[in-house]
Amino acid sequence: MEGPFSGGWNGIFPPVWFTVLFTLVGAAVGSFLNVCISRIPQSISIVFPASRCPQCGHPIRFYDNIPVVSYLLLKGKCRDCRGGISFRYPLVEIVTAIFPGVLFWKYGLTPAYPAAFLFVCLLIVITLIDIDQQIIPHVLTLPGIPIFALLAVLLMGLTFVESFLGIMIGAGVLYFVAVYYEALTGREGMGGGDVNLLALLGAFLGWKSLLFILLASSLMGAIVGIAVILLKGKDMRYAIPFGPFLCGAAVLYLFIGEDLTELFFSFRM
Ligand SMILES: [Zn+2]
Repeated sequence: MEGPFSGGWNGIFPPVWFTVLFTLVGAAVGSFLNVCISRIPQSISIVFPASRCPQCGHPIRFYDNIPVVSYLLLKGKCRDCRGGISFRYPLVEIVTAIFPGVLFWKYGLTPAYPAAFLFVCLLIVITLIDIDQQIIPHVLTLPGIPIFALLAVLLMGLTFVESFLGIMIGAGVLYFVAVYYEALTGREGMGGGDVNLLALLGAFLGWKSLLFILLASSLMGAIVGIAVILLKGKDMRYAIPFGPFLCGAAVLYLFIGEDLTELFFSFRM
């Protein structure tokens, strides 16, 4: 299917300077995402005050706040208290820095490009908050649903119906899974956060994406779940948050799932 937004970069890689620039911007955005990840669950402003060392509280100097580079120069230690800085910070910056490049390769300079990057940024924040706190803040998903539905229709070439059904089916499917799981096992397996998250993914990627997302996330979740049992001897009741797998599957959908889904639906028609 050759839509206006499905063209990509026609196999030609962007010039090197473009890739370098995009990667630097991505790393800076990743630095901001780190702030969001630590502050949103505490309901602290993501703009003010400036970042502080979580251990000694000393404000971080601007020249110590360069993504990845500062971490390496400081050898992962705070300049003031020598307390260890989590490797998570540069990791989030590196992961975020990769996406402007790979999304450009996928979308080219189309309106879909910034929308997809914004979407991935939100998923990175949700993933790490869910890993840290086992919650997916409503403050991210609930405003995200209408905003990303709008972006999908205006910039991603989705129809209103595809996006709307994505919200409805996305929320509905996991809601019923959650209700039945709890009725059968007496345990709460799937939180309301996961329900809102799948609605958000459906809003941006459309209802057709949901089958791929549910299959891919369940598969990844099962693999990691079994690995945790084998490595740590914990049983399945040891709750592994499902949000990161939903987010991972959604990002995978941007790159391979969309084509697979088109193929699937073309067979059925
Ligand atoms: Zn410190």
